[in-house]
Amino acid sequence: MQSGMNPWSSNQTVDVDRLFTEFGIEPIGEVARRLPEVPPFIRRGVVVGHRDYQVVVDAIRNRTPFHVLTGFMPSGLPHLGHLMVMKEVVWHVQQGGNGYVAIADREAHAVRGMSWEKCREYGREYLKALYALGFRGTTYYQSRNEPLKDLAFEASTKVNFSELSAIYGFGPETSLGHAMSVATQVGDILFPQLDAGPAPTVVPVGLDQDPHIRLTRDVAHKLRMFTVEDRDDYVSVRSKNAPEEALEAVHRAFAGSKKYAGHVDITGQPHARVDDTVREIEIAHGGFGFYLPSSTYHIFMPGLQGGKMSSSVPESLFGFYEPEKSVRKKVMAALTGGRMTLEEQKRLGGEPDRCSVYLLNLFHMLEDDGELAELRRRCESGEITCGQCKKETLERVQAFLTDLRDKMDAVEHLADEV
Ligand code: SF4
Repeated sequence: MQSGMNPWSSNQTVDVDRLFTEFGIEPIGEVARRLPEVPPFIRRGVVVGHRDYQVVVDAIRNRTPFHVLTGFMPSGLPHLGHLMVMKEVVWHVQQGGNGYVAIADREAHAVRGMSWEKCREYGREYLKALYALGFRGTTYYQSRNEPLKDLAFEASTKVNFSELSAIYGFGPETSLGHAMSVATQVGDILFPQLDAGPAPTVVPVGLDQDPHIRLTRDVAHKLRMFTVEDRDDYVSVRSKNAPEEALEAVHRAFAGSKKYAGHVDITGQPHARVDDTVREIEIAHGGFGFYLPSSTYHIFMPGLQGGKMSSSVPESLFGFYEPEKSVRKKVMAALTGGRMTLEEQKRLGGEPDRCSVYLLNLFHMLEDDGELAELRRRCESGEITCGQCKKETLERVQAFLTDLRDKMDAVEHLADEV
């Protein structure tokens, strides 16, 4: 497991340490060690933090149900910058998770003014890439998912405009459609529990997405009828907006426990059992019984040119269907951690942690840890020149893209069924 050092924090658009200390994101290390198999994106320090991921780790270990989901806004074609989250979702599906992918066409339409036709055309490419990478599960377009719309409406009753302006900077000019697309995204995260039943749910996101996760957890909490609190020597169940019958059902379920109006103390009961029972009662009485969604947080791969990776900076990334000539040009022009002269490179070695070519290998192109370590050794010892290193990396990129495109072509029918 990589140390806590994060060599790329200077490239991040968000302050990693602040998110950890101020907003309570936990470092992933300890909880990840309990995974039966630690995936490369955690081993290599790409995924750095989490909220409540331990319940998902438990589900993986115990082979009990859990969900994993993400969403993509179809405002352009998928590219290198989307690959990490796709891999994280696919990995969780391979660990037994129920996979969900939302194509956020309502958001693309409301926020970017994309036509529905374009949303569909681009959305199809995201789905093809996901299926090609091994995703299996449920995929949908927001605009065509009726239960999601109802859930988003319920979610919207728990969010006010001051929260929206604090989180997203909404002002007097913001359209109501934009606000609705936020509610829809909250709905997306809770949708798997509506569709397939309450279960721990993990949402792999970039660190900048945490405000949205916090909002969704808050809404999930508000939509529940009861609050189950773990105290030192007892578990307490408090009602929030539960109907009388639901309250009575809780009292009946825990008969013999100390009780008083709207608040039940269940001395000596294990929290998990209480939570499950209360959840069942909530659902039976028309409530939601959600688990608060868990999240993992990845840092961002810098752009090939060394700055931010963004579709508005074409040289910072390549698309999955980009012509070979253009991919070659971008990889060969990438910013390296090489020295000014060949002589210096041989004497001092390169600086892989400052090199976008190395990071391209670390994030995506070298799956074998031994091969990655060997690349680092050859770089730091000055054994390899940056020119040679880029050439080798380009070959990997070309092989990766050829394979991905073949697979994308082969799964077109799956994307068309959505
Ligand atoms: Fe980067 Fe490779 Fe040059 Fe090292 S040798 S600085 S990894 S391009």
